Amino acid sequence: MKLAKSLSRLGTESAFKILAEAKNLEKKGKEIIHLGLGQPDFKTPKHVVDSTIKALKDGHHGYVLPNGIIECRQAVSRKIESLYNAKIDPERIIIMPGGKPTMFYAISLFGEPGSEIIYPDPGFPIYESMINYTGAKAVPLNLLEKKDFTLDVDKILSLINEKTRLIIINNPSNPMGSVTDKKVIDKLAEGLKKFPQVAILSDEIYDRLILDDKKMPTFFNYPELYSRLIVLNGWSKTYSMTGWRLGWSVWPEKFVDSVIRFCVNNHSCVNAAIQFGGITALDGPEDSLKIMVEKFIARRDLIHKGLNNLKGVECSKPLGAFYAFPNVKGTGMNGSEFAKKCLHEAGVAIVPGTAFGKFATDHVRFSFAASRENIKKALIKIEEMLS
Ligand code: PLP
Repeated sequence: MKLAKSLSRLGTESAFKILAEAKNLEKKGKEIIHLGLGQPDFKTPKHVVDSTIKALKDGHHGYVLPNGIIECRQAVSRKIESLYNAKIDPERIIIMPGGKPTMFYAISLFGEPGSEIIYPDPGFPIYESMINYTGAKAVPLNLLEKKDFTLDVDKILSLINEKTRLIIINNPSNPMGSVTDKKVIDKLAEGLKKFPQVAILSDEIYDRLILDDKKMPTFFNYPELYSRLIVLNGWSKTYSMTGWRLGWSVWPEKFVDSVIRFCVNNHSCVNAAIQFGGITALDGPEDSLKIMVEKFIARRDLIHKGLNNLKGVECSKPLGAFYAFPNVKGTGMNGSEFAKKCLHEAGVAIVPGTAFGKFATDHVRFSFAASRENIKKALIKIEEMLS
């Protein structure tokens, strides 16, 4: 049998592979502390679960519109207005089965041989994977440790040429937990005005997980870019709903029909009852989110200090999301060797930097979406491993 050549260009997300490896070790009796996968370790708020169950009991079990039920799109529009003071027509909002499909569709809209797409490296691995899959040239934007992994506007603009169709920004970032300030994003938005042929995909899935008192530097601040701005977001991280597969995105009006066509061809529509749960999450109280952020701040402080106390490990302070991304070069190992040793010797599952691009060979990612107890235990085990 002959498979399509394009398949060989499709990458993956190694965090899932590491999870499988860790589960395998657990089956053999080894105790593993999971700091690999990027998902909150909190329960979905009860009022969200209850309203989803009610929706099912009320008979919301059938097909619905491919772009999402209007009530859900209106709830997203209300939320964007209340958070960012931006008015977005619900017809420009598409409800997706998670955050990832927005990436897939946005990159598919622009990627083809001969085109170029700029993406962050280190960055979420699916950007590069999807760009390669479409046959477009994947142009990495190397984010530097010495700049705390924040965006460098001049560098981004210098990568744009006549073949550039799309630029992908992720702020706050995975895997670094860095947050680029609004001032810098203002400058970037200004600079992008000179390139009206370039669309922007702003992945803001961690927008509510800013771990200090900074305001979220959202691209919704720039209405002048709306005609080529795609914003990716969803419920996964904010409401601890990773397994529900529920996301939303905002598109320029002129792209909406094409994206709906992708939805119809691929997933038809998003689970109806879950969209009702999504509305409750957006409109309901945010106590759970507040508690989660407080806990992430405490864990961030713990892991940041703990990692920097390890011999040969240096870690900049994570300001968003729930990831620490230390440099482990000083231990004499590269990121892959360190991560492997952590899993097999210390029993701590983490992800090597190479899972996020070519420039992070000396780094590893710790997800601190785990209890303080487990983080403390993991740090002790790694300290023992290093000594
Ligand atoms: N964007 C970034 C930067 C992520 O880290 C993730 C998940 O880890 C996603 C998007 C995908 O989110 P979802 O699980 O909702 O598909």
